[in-house]
Amino acid sequence: MHKLPLKGSNHTWRKSNLVTITAGKKPYDEMYCEKCGIKGKRYNLAEVVINGRYSKDKVMSCPHAEASDTDNIPKRVRVVNCNAFGSQFKNLVNGSEHDVVTPPSGYKNDHTGVWVMGVGEPVKMLASEYTPI
Ligand SMILES: [Zn+2]
Repeated sequence: MHKLPLKGSNHTWRKSNLVTITAGKKPYDEMYCEKCGIKGKRYNLAEVVINGRYSKDKVMSCPHAEASDTDNIPKRVRVVNCNAFGSQFKNLVNGSEHDVVTPPSGYKNDHTGVWVMGVGEPVKMLASEYTPI
């Protein structure tokens, strides 16, 4: 089972039920991705719970999302697991928050990661290293 933040994913989520399903203990909405068809359940507004039979790669990154799809690029991120090293990454400690910045020319912010201000220069963080806030 995977838990995916609604805002941090590049899936194009749509609700498939008209009214919230209240059958179980916890009401939920059936969600699906318009592009790749992956399905999940949304118990709250923050995340979608995805059945474990999907591969993690597919869950984390929509195989049909367009590269230019910038809808889900966060404005600000919190560092959760930064493995990069080097003096320019010194300020990216776990738990710290950073504004997403405009990438250097030739680079872009996309679902694989975003650029934030490191020490003295912008640096790229991978999607697994932060959570959108
Ligand atoms: Zn998708």
